[in-house]
Amino acid sequence: MDIALPGIELKRDFSLKNHNSFGVNSTARAFVRVTSEAQLFYLPELLSRYSSYLLLGGGSNMLLPDFYDGLVVKIDIQKYSLRESGKDVLVNVGAGVNWHTLVSDSVKRNLGGIENLALIPGNAGAAPIQNIGAYGVELKDVFVCLRGMDLEKGELKCFDLAKSEFAYRDSVFKRKWKDKLIISELWIKLTEANYHQPNISYAALKDFLIQKNIFQASISDVFNAVVDIRKSKLPDPEKIGNAGSFFKNPVVSEEKLNSLLEEYPYLVHYPVADGLTKIPAAWLIDKAGLKGASKGPVGTHNFQPLVIVNHGGATASQIVDFAGWVQKCILNQFGILLEPEVNIVQSGENDGLLQYRPHSGNGA
Ligand SMILES: Cc1cc2nc3c(=O)[nH]c(=O)nc-3n(C[C@H](O)[C@H](O)[C@H](O)COP(=O)(O)OP(=O)(O)OC[C@H]3O[C@@H](n4cnc5c(N)ncnc54)[C@H](O)[C@@H]3O)c2cc1C
Repeated sequence: MDIALPGIELKRDFSLKNHNSFGVNSTARAFVRVTSEAQLFYLPELLSRYSSYLLLGGGSNMLLPDFYDGLVVKIDIQKYSLRESGKDVLVNVGAGVNWHTLVSDSVKRNLGGIENLALIPGNAGAAPIQNIGAYGVELKDVFVCLRGMDLEKGELKCFDLAKSEFAYRDSVFKRKWKDKLIISELWIKLTEANYHQPNISYAALKDFLIQKNIFQASISDVFNAVVDIRKSKLPDPEKIGNAGSFFKNPVVSEEKLNSLLEEYPYLVHYPVADGLTKIPAAWLIDKAGLKGASKGPVGTHNFQPLVIVNHGGATASQIVDFAGWVQKCILNQFGILLEPEVNIVQSGENDGLLQYRPHSGNGA
């Protein structure tokens, strides 16, 4: 154990087993925990001492290698404040704040806007990276701005909604700024209950509320419904290792959709933009007979086949092999290449863990 830089303790050969929701045994050559924005100013110099580094939040959207040959930076900035402005409340939150704690706290305060995003694992700082979304709401719907450290320039930078370029499971932070910006805090806009119109546009949520005879849903009704639905469908990473949806839902062209519909008239699909259609990856995996399939300690979940689970003791390469096999089956049957949503972290020296990469494109 050394002091890397003022106030930052560096740990060597650090176990990441409790820092990733897949629960894989992973070790980092070096590890630091950053707890304040002031410490971020020291990071460019520290990072320059390593050939590779990894920015880590709650570790719920990544698959870590057995050994990470570099520096892991855990961003753990805890901060929370509220500012009322008429019917809106501006919430300022540090990157290390647990996302679900933020949601439940907002619901307790009777503030609306993120109740549909209950029970998404991970921290607030990672929420903008893939523009987290669930049950008809995305982070972008409440996002105001964020601040982070530009690691190349060593200065703080702000991004508003327009600069963040949010899209489905995507943002500028996932592409141009990946590993170049450490998000330190964000601002979101919530609404006082009296002025908030809960979003129950998502069919499964609406049906659930109707079954409970709730026709005028409050913020906490929506929150409780989302929690109940998620608990009934998704494996709890505390009990069974997983990183949520392993693949993104593919988007296909009209031509591809028509050819699929000829063969699969009951194909589930949703229009997303001119001539483009989204197909639930879970439907494809289920239709291919892979729901609940497993190889050794890795499998698809029995209720939600889009979630790949670690039944116990799986290594990153076993999980990647299994994911590659699922990709191959879907490509062979439907001619669609599923893209991983989970961040597959390389060891710092190897390249291309996901071995099955036949060709790109979904005919879109
Ligand atoms: C059971 C389960 C259910 C899930 N359900 C959903 C869902 O419904 N919707 C959804 O969108 N996602 C879902 N996810 C995925 C995951 O929870 C989200 O992507 C979450 O935002 C990841 O947060 P994290 O802190 O764990 O990020 P990590 O996994 O630690 O990191 C994810 C990425 O963000 C980067 N990163 C993390 N923090 C920072 C930072 N402060 N600055 C810069 N880069 C950073 C990392 O380098 C990495 O590239 C689910 C996951 C699980 C396990």
